[in-house]
Amino acid sequence: MTVQSVLDEIRERPGTGDVIPVFNPATEEQITEFKDCGPEAVNAAVARAKETAESGVWKGMPPSERAKVLWRVGELIDQNTDELAELESLNAGMVPMQAKATVTVSAEFFRYYAGWCTKIEGIASDVHTGGLTGIDSHQHAYTLKEPYDVVGLIFPWNGPIFNFCAKLAPSLAAGCSSVVKPAEETPLTALILDRILSEAGVPDGVANLLIGYGHTAGAAITAHPDVEKVAFTGSTEVGRAIVQASGVSNLKKVTLELGGKSPVLIFDDADLNLAVPMASFGTFVHSGQACVCGSRIFAQRGVYDQVVEGLANMANAMKLGGPTEDGSMIGPLISQKQLTRVLGYLDQGKSDGVDVVTGGHRLDRKGYFVHPTVLTNVATTSRLFQEEIFGPVVSVIPFDDEDEAVALANDSTYGLAATAWTKDLGRAHRIAKRLKAGTVGLNCQMQFDHSMPFGGYKQSGWGYESGKAGIDTYLQTKIVWAQM
Ligand code: NAD
Repeated sequence: MTVQSVLDEIRERPGTGDVIPVFNPATEEQITEFKDCGPEAVNAAVARAKETAESGVWKGMPPSERAKVLWRVGELIDQNTDELAELESLNAGMVPMQAKATVTVSAEFFRYYAGWCTKIEGIASDVHTGGLTGIDSHQHAYTLKEPYDVVGLIFPWNGPIFNFCAKLAPSLAAGCSSVVKPAEETPLTALILDRILSEAGVPDGVANLLIGYGHTAGAAITAHPDVEKVAFTGSTEVGRAIVQASGVSNLKKVTLELGGKSPVLIFDDADLNLAVPMASFGTFVHSGQACVCGSRIFAQRGVYDQVVEGLANMANAMKLGGPTEDGSMIGPLISQKQLTRVLGYLDQGKSDGVDVVTGGHRLDRKGYFVHPTVLTNVATTSRLFQEEIFGPVVSVIPFDDEDEAVALANDSTYGLAATAWTKDLGRAHRIAKRLKAGTVGLNCQMQFDHSMPFGGYKQSGWGYESGKAGIDTYLQTKIVWAQM
């Protein structure tokens, strides 16, 4: 599929709701539009998914065959890298290098989980016990790992291909049927992925793409009585609404990958040649629109000035631009809505009296570009310190000692990721235990591997993606007792 054919095809998709425009965030131009699929399409898609679960066309397929299909999906994603990366850049504003890297990592989700298809296993035990009957007897007991019939997969605009694959690969490996809803801002690459699934041999009706708004399509998925589980990535606010929808519908199981306000601790003994560039990349990458961005940097007093100056220099050296502009290192924010939100935080900060070391404004050009921004003198009680901005904005705060650094880092309702830069290995591991975050980097930042689980502490999430934990989340455990 070419980029143009995707832009054309999406206009033709049926829908019953509003027409939703799709923009190029680097130019603010509308590039296509589509009709909100509406709740009727959700009902039909869930019914199709349920039918495939009951027929066993996917979950009953021999695991080694399912594995081959998943592997083929990965290969086809690789073969379509150029189109996928171009669309991801056009629609999500990613610079080309980042878009290509995202596609590669996404393909690997399918190859990684292809391996798990043949390794879904339970435990077995010979049990001699009276159990609750009090009568001594002998049983053979074992567990079965069984997929949910229909799962709902809902995800945001900041990593459209990545999130699609991070959810769909393990759910398919587990044997689930699904309905899949990308964000309304970034539906384009999902059309190619949908075609790839079919070409690779995923039977019709097993993975059903739905494109529409969150309050229509998303809400209909989370309220549907036949959806047994929802795996969601997005804001904490919507995560909370999904939990409520589960509560008033069928108590569907919910996993949540939510927001963050991740701390980065830089101690006096840190290697600043590594810490400052990584902290800068870790906060400004994708214009700060990554859940794990280290948006609160704490620097020990001995290196505080150097850290602030280093971050400001890096922020000023970053070339902002659209994906087709030469040398662009950072793209735009996703939308006018996101731009307004980020500028709102900056205005609030200025009226609170924060010091703007660099940035603090949008670029004087077309596109939703905000200059990478370094702030100091930010009160820990302020909204800037506490809330997720999801833009290229970092607050730098000094600390005296380890205890204060840990207390500041943990002063958040979020707990997604944290990083510590220090040459003292004892301190590094001590801090790793004390930080309340689902992922801790010691002298490294923004690490990811398919084999390692990923999830949030506190209000950053429920459950895990990736690794073995990532497939377990799509499986239920049945315990079978047999009298011997
Ligand atoms: P969002 O929560 O507004 O939307 C995410 C998805 O939910 C979209 O597909 C949207 O249509 C849908 N949605 C909206 N309302 C819904 C409802 N009532 N019921 C069901 N679905 C609904 O998030 P966003 O603004 O698109 O993305 C940014 C957020 O995502 C940030 O908070 C970011 O931290 C988070 N995020 C988290 C991770 C992670 O792994 N922890 C990764 C990426 C992004």
